[in-house]
Amino acid sequence: MIVDGWYTCPACRRRLVKVERDSVLFGVPVYCRKCKVEWFPTVYLGRELGDDEPFDWNPSAASGQSR
Ligand SMILES: [Zn+2]
Repeated sequence: MIVDGWYTCPACRRRLVKVERDSVLFGVPVYCRKCKVEWFPTVYLGRELGDDEPFDWNPSAASGQSR
């Protein structure tokens, strides 16, 4: 889950990875040392997506022109 610009551990709410407005995170293990669990969040343009929520993987569009 994302709270105040950070991806936080869903279990213990520890801040794990900073998420910017245009951050994209996919297929990257994020390890919580407290829970000793790896999470695989999908973050697209700063918004967390559900496991079965598709997103348009188009880096050239994400990097820019329309914003
Ligand atoms: Zn944790």
